[in-house]
Amino acid sequence: PRIVDDEEGGVLFLSTAASSSSSSGFGYGGMEKQRQRLPVYKYRTAILYLVETHATSIIVGETGSGKTTQIPQYLKEAGWADGGRVIACTQPRRLAVQSVAARVAEEMGVKLGEEVGYTIRFEDLTNTFLVMTAENFHVLAAQNTTMIKFLTDGVLLREMMDDPLLTKYSVIMVDEAHERSISTDILLGLLKKIQRRRPELRLIISSATIEAKSMSAFFQASKRRRGLEGEELGPRMEPAILSVENYSSFLQEPMGDILVFLTGQDDIDTAVKLLNEEAQSNGKKSSGLIVLPLYSGLSRAEQELIFTPTPRGKRKVVISTNIAETSLTLEEPMGDILVFLTGQDDIDTAVKLLNEEAQSNGKKSSGLIVLPLYSGLSRAEQELIFTPTPRGKRKVVISTNIAETSLTLEISDIENLVVAPISKASARQRAGRAGRVRPGKCYRLYTEEYFVNEMSAEGIPEMQRSNLVSCVIQLKALGIDNILGFDWPASPSPEAMIRALEVLYSLGVLDDDAKLTSPAGFQVAEIPLEPMISKMILSSNELGCSEEILTIAAILSVQGDHVTFLNVYKGFLQSGKSSQWCHKNHKKVIEIRGQLRRIAQRLGMVLKSCEGDMKAVRKAVTAGFFANACRLEAFSHSGMYKTVRGSQEVYIHPSSVLFRVNPKWVIFHSLVSTDRQYMRNVISIDPSWLREAAPHFYQHQPHNAIGH
Ligand code: ADP
Ligand code: MG
Repeated sequence: PRIVDDEEGGVLFLSTAASSSSSSGFGYGGMEKQRQRLPVYKYRTAILYLVETHATSIIVGETGSGKTTQIPQYLKEAGWADGGRVIACTQPRRLAVQSVAARVAEEMGVKLGEEVGYTIRFEDLTNTFLVMTAENFHVLAAQNTTMIKFLTDGVLLREMMDDPLLTKYSVIMVDEAHERSISTDILLGLLKKIQRRRPELRLIISSATIEAKSMSAFFQASKRRRGLEGEELGPRMEPAILSVENYSSFLQEPMGDILVFLTGQDDIDTAVKLLNEEAQSNGKKSSGLIVLPLYSGLSRAEQELIFTPTPRGKRKVVISTNIAETSLTLEEPMGDILVFLTGQDDIDTAVKLLNEEAQSNGKKSSGLIVLPLYSGLSRAEQELIFTPTPRGKRKVVISTNIAETSLTLEISDIENLVVAPISKASARQRAGRAGRVRPGKCYRLYTEEYFVNEMSAEGIPEMQRSNLVSCVIQLKALGIDNILGFDWPASPSPEAMIRALEVLYSLGVLDDDAKLTSPAGFQVAEIPLEPMISKMILSSNELGCSEEILTIAAILSVQGDHVTFLNVYKGFLQSGKSSQWCHKNHKKVIEIRGQLRRIAQRLGMVLKSCEGDMKAVRKAVTAGFFANACRLEAFSHSGMYKTVRGSQEVYIHPSSVLFRVNPKWVIFHSLVSTDRQYMRNVISIDPSWLREAAPHFYQHQPHNAIGH
C-alpha cells in the first residue's frame, strides 16, 4: 500500500491502487440470462432474506450451482456494498481467487480491480482506501470503490492485524468451507468472536458438502441484542441453513455411447445376453441401453447396426472384439479433460508420456494440449489452464489436488507431504471441478466397493493433521494468547500444538510465558511468510547477508515450493525459449523481493550483501530451519541420514546438487515421501551452528549426537 500523509489532520490515507475510473456497467446482455439459469438464482430472494435477518447463514450447494459467482453479486444488488462498504468472499486457493474475480467482473461488465477486485499475498488488485489516524492507527472510516472483493482466507487473517474488527466489510462469505483448511478454520473461529463485537456483520458460510449441522452448532452460541424494553434487536444470532438444490447434478451420468472390448465371440454373446437380462429383471421395459455385439462372424447387416444413430435418451453399448479398434470411431464429444494425480513427479511423467505418444503417432499435432498444474509451477504457467481451447483441440489438465495434503507424521516434528487416499467429499468435488459449463464424464480409478465401504466421507480438517507453527503465530499476533482454549471449529491435537509452541520458542518468537517476544516475535509475525523463513530473514541482518537471503525468500515464496530452484535451473538450460520463460518467472520474484525489501527496511534491517560469503548465508538458513537438521549415518553407504530430533530416516533427493556428495551435516527445507523420505533443498552446515541458533531445541541431545 501507498501511504499518503495528510498534513493538516494527521490522518493517513492508506491506498492500494491508482485512482479509480468509472466504468460502465452495461456489459450484461446474454450474461444476464446465463446467470438466471443457475440453480442458485431460484433462491436469490431467500438468500437475501436470510442474510438480512440472520447474523450467519450457511449455504450448501453442489459445485457449479452458482454460489461463488452469484451470491456476492446478489448482495451488491441488494445494497450491501452501499456507502463504501465491501462484500468479501474468501477462497482457500489463490488461483480460485483470481479466476472467480475475473469471472464476476466479466459478468458485471466491469474492469477487474475496480468494482470487483481481488487480493492474494503480494498482489492487491482492489481499489480500497482506509482512513487512519496517525497516532493509534484505528480505522475511522472506509471509502472504497471496490464493492466485491475476493481474497484468500490467509489474506483476510492478515488484514485483521491492521483492522481487528474488519470494519470495512458488511458481509464476509467464507467459501469452500468444506475444505477445512487451517486458515478457514482460524477465520471461522475469529469471525465468531468479531460478530459478538459487531453484530451488524453478516457471515455467509458456503460449501459443497459441509456437515451443515456441525457448522451451525459452532455458530449457535451468541445471544441476540435486546433494546431498553427487552425487545430483540438486530439480526437473529442462530444460523440459518439453506440448501441449494442442483437439478443438473454432476452425479448423473451424461448420455453418450459406450464401446466395450472383449476377447472373443463367446464372451461378447454372453455379455450381450447378461446386459439384456439385467435390463429386463430391473422390471423396466426399456433400459435405455441398446446393446449391440460386434465381431467378424456377424452378417454385414448386423455389423452395420452399430452405425444407426442412437435415439434420444438412449445409449448405445457396442461390445466388440478388436475389429473395432481400427475401423470404428464412436462419437466421443469434444471437451477438455481434467486428471488428478498425486504429485509433481507423476504429473511431469504423465505430461511427458502423453506428448511423446502424440509424437510417435507421427502426427504433428495430436489435438491434445497437455498442461500440468501443481503449486510448484509459476503463476504464469498455472494460468495457462485458463486460456480458451482452440477449436478442434482438447485441453488435458493434469493436476494435483493443488491444496496438497500436508501431514505431520506422528513420529516427528517435521511437516511432511504424504500420499493419502482422498475422501468421498473430495471425490465429488473433483468431479464437480470439471463439467462446469456442460455435462461430462468422470472416471474413477478405484472400485465402487472401495468408494462405498472404505473411503472416508469427509477429509480430516487440515487443523488436525498439520503443522501449526504459522497458525499459532498468527493467533498470537492477533492477541489471542490462550490458544488451546480458543473456540475452534475443529480442535487441533494438544501434541501438535505443543510441538508448534516449542519450535516458536526455539525460534525466539515466543517467551517463557508463550507471549510474542519483542521485537523478534512481532517482527516475525509482521513478515507474511512462514515463521522459519521470516526468522531466516531477520537473522541475515546480523550476519550481513540480507540481500542474498531476501532473494532466496522471494524465490521460495513465488510458488510456495522449493522445486522452483530446479525449474529455474532447467529453464536456463533449455535455451531457446528460456529467456522468455526466465523473464516471466523473474518478474514475479523481483516484484516480491521488492516488497520483502520494503518490509525489511520498515523493520529497521540493514540491507547488505555478503559478497559471496556463503557461510553467512548458510548460517542464516540454519537460524530459521535448525529444526530440520540431519546427520549422515556413520557407515551408511546408501546415503542415509537421520533427523537430529526424532531420528527419522531421510535421504537427499536425486535432484539436489548434494546428491552423492553426502555432507556429514545438512539442513533441508522440505521433505517429499515417495518410496523414501527425500530431503529437498539441502545445504551443508557445521553442527556447532545448531546450538548457536537454537540452544533450547538441541539442549537434550546426547553429546555424540551433536557436536564433533
Ligand atoms: P459454485 O460456487 O456453486 O461451485 P460458481 O458460482 O463457481 O458455482 O459457478 C457457477 C457457474 O458459473 C458454473 O457452473 C459455470 O457455468 C459458470 N462459470 C463459473 N466460472 C466460469 C468461468 N470462468 N467461465 C465460464 N463459466 C463459468
Ligand atoms: Mg464455488
